[in-house]
Amino acid sequence: MRFGNLLLCILFLTSVPNLYSQSKTENLFVITLDGLRWQELFSGADAALIQNGQYVKDTATLIKRFWNDDPGKRRKKLMPFFWSTLAAKGQIYGNRQKNSPVNCTNIFHFSYPGYAEILCGFSDAQNIRSNEKINNPNQTFLEILNHNKKFRGKVAAFTSWDVFPYIINEDRSGIYVNAGFDHCEEAKLTREEKMLNKLQDEIPSPWSSVRLDAFTYNYAKAYIKKHHPKVVFISFGETDDFAHDGRYDHYLNSARQTDQFIADLWDMVQRSKTYRNKTTFVISTDHGRGEGDDWTSHGSRIEGSDAIWIAVLGPDSPAVGEVLNSKQLWQNQIAATCMSLLNQPFPEQGIEAGKPIETCQQDVNKKGSEIK
Ligand SMILES: [Zn+2]
Repeated sequence: MRFGNLLLCILFLTSVPNLYSQSKTENLFVITLDGLRWQELFSGADAALIQNGQYVKDTATLIKRFWNDDPGKRRKKLMPFFWSTLAAKGQIYGNRQKNSPVNCTNIFHFSYPGYAEILCGFSDAQNIRSNEKINNPNQTFLEILNHNKKFRGKVAAFTSWDVFPYIINEDRSGIYVNAGFDHCEEAKLTREEKMLNKLQDEIPSPWSSVRLDAFTYNYAKAYIKKHHPKVVFISFGETDDFAHDGRYDHYLNSARQTDQFIADLWDMVQRSKTYRNKTTFVISTDHGRGEGDDWTSHGSRIEGSDAIWIAVLGPDSPAVGEVLNSKQLWQNQIAATCMSLLNQPFPEQGIEAGKPIETCQQDVNKKGSEIK
């Protein structure tokens, strides 16, 4: 090849636009709130439930903390980080009252199938049909990343539910998973980690398979500060279990506290040289729940259990806030969206996966955003 041709060839190759070549996301935090309904996220506390003595012990206190006649103000009382920072700088999909539907594709509408759909990018109804502790035969996108040189050893998961070591297939994936009532078992523990281990043993959880979310969050935060992982999965569990217990007061207080955990994490990211302006948060839920008295439950027989929501906040996502009139989105698009934000290929695994949500990422070849 003559030098002139070679030069032309190089010029051509460097000018071909790689769709996401300008992706700024180098780190990704995926956060889930188990079974938190879109109804509370977008409208705040439910008028009927907050006054129902069957579900609430101290209505007056709860009304003082969470009630406002204006749903816009009410939702901000419940989830202030979502409706200040995230609404101003990120994207929130899933308000059916504003024509923005997001649903599960799986037919089960409970946790293992929901988390598997979020993390693998598809529903495998043959193999994933219960919450039993069975190793996931499919790879999550976390595992795909952990097998990639760039991310190996830099993927970690912190979960309140003790089934996640199976969903993530800890043995095969090699991902660091701290789940259920796991301690931090590193050789050198910080004072904070020692204290978390001690308190986790001393404070009884209301449930046998789910720990209180403060432990999950603080174990995650301690690990992030110490090891600077690139990809972190944090799964909070209280909202679902308090709902099953029929405790609307605890459910609301938990939603509020989890919002504060996410705010704290975002604040830490903004103050960190490692993470600032190159970290995206993707936040969602495994399933919805029923309406009225059915709010305590979910599953294929409870209407509305497949209604979920997705929020995204990061340097590549146009700041559109609450998304109106979007096309139908699906839970199986989350994994592909995460891989696309990280500018990584997403290999097929035999079952067709959902496609990336285009509007989560600034398309460098298009001007403006199509989201209304
Ligand atoms: Zn549940």
